[in-house]
Amino acid sequence: MSKKVAVVTGANKGIGFAIVKGLCKAGYTGDIILTARNEKLGQEALQQVKAEGHQNVLYHRLDLCDQSTAEELRKFLENNYGGLDVLINNAGMAFKVSATEPFGEQADVTMQTNYWGTLAVCKALLPILKPKARVVNVSSFVSKRSLDKCSPELQAKFRNSDITEEELGGLMKDFVQAAQKGDHEAKGWPNSAYGTTKIGVTVLSRIQARVLSQTRASDGILLNACCPGWVRTDMAGDKAPKSPEEGAETPVYLALLPDGATGPHGQLVWDKEVHEW
Ligand code: NDP
Repeated sequence: MSKKVAVVTGANKGIGFAIVKGLCKAGYTGDIILTARNEKLGQEALQQVKAEGHQNVLYHRLDLCDQSTAEELRKFLENNYGGLDVLINNAGMAFKVSATEPFGEQADVTMQTNYWGTLAVCKALLPILKPKARVVNVSSFVSKRSLDKCSPELQAKFRNSDITEEELGGLMKDFVQAAQKGDHEAKGWPNSAYGTTKIGVTVLSRIQARVLSQTRASDGILLNACCPGWVRTDMAGDKAPKSPEEGAETPVYLALLPDGATGPHGQLVWDKEVHEW
């Protein structure tokens, strides 16, 4: 049997870096691939983890917005591990409240990374999931808050348990187009680019879990969206109540759901509890 392997995206700092260390501290027996888009930042993070005594961590480049890096990572995983056991899609971005870019531009850029970038990584890596694999898509409680601010029609679409990936992608495009025209609120969207991209991540997770249940029913794979809580990082600032280590707890819990567990699956989880969508 090949060695187990876990991949964490956006792991050079913040919650992703804490997830890598959390997996190590939990005694993850396989290799852990700390990925980052910036080689120097990734290598520096790797050296810090190794200095703490964790020798089973490796660096691999992964940029959510460069599909070739996801394909290279897939080849690396296939050649060295025969597939993938744990995928934690943590990488994400948000404009600061003080950002001066027009809202339409913020919507486009945030969507490219958080929704389309996460989807691109999934397209490359979900096909090589091994039986009993665990997938964690780091979304946010802001996805639920933003859902509640959508028009009843949009809420019904995002809560529809039969929504397809194509329909979801169409809705994400509709939001960006409306944001660029400036009529997104008139069309029933919330006034949050980040929040809408995270609606996309949560709904995508529900779709992916459903598809896995249909196509790989006997493989025991569990896939969830989660919220790390409000965490002190470069993204959220220093007033947030949780440390990165505390923010990593729910993603690590979902990544290490024991063999034989039947859930949670296709859920939005925070503080290790399933929350209604
Ligand atoms: P940080 O800004 O501290 O870290 C974000 C990480 O994502 C960095 O490693 C960054 O790399 C990486 N990243 C951004 N864009 C890309 C890309 N195109 N390709 C690869 N990596 C990329 O944020 P957090 O640690 O706070 O956030 C981690 C996740 O948690 C995000 O998905 C965020 O939305 C979510 N979250 C965070 C909350 C919080 O309170 N902090 C609350 C709820 C959810 P680089 O250093 O190169 O920019």
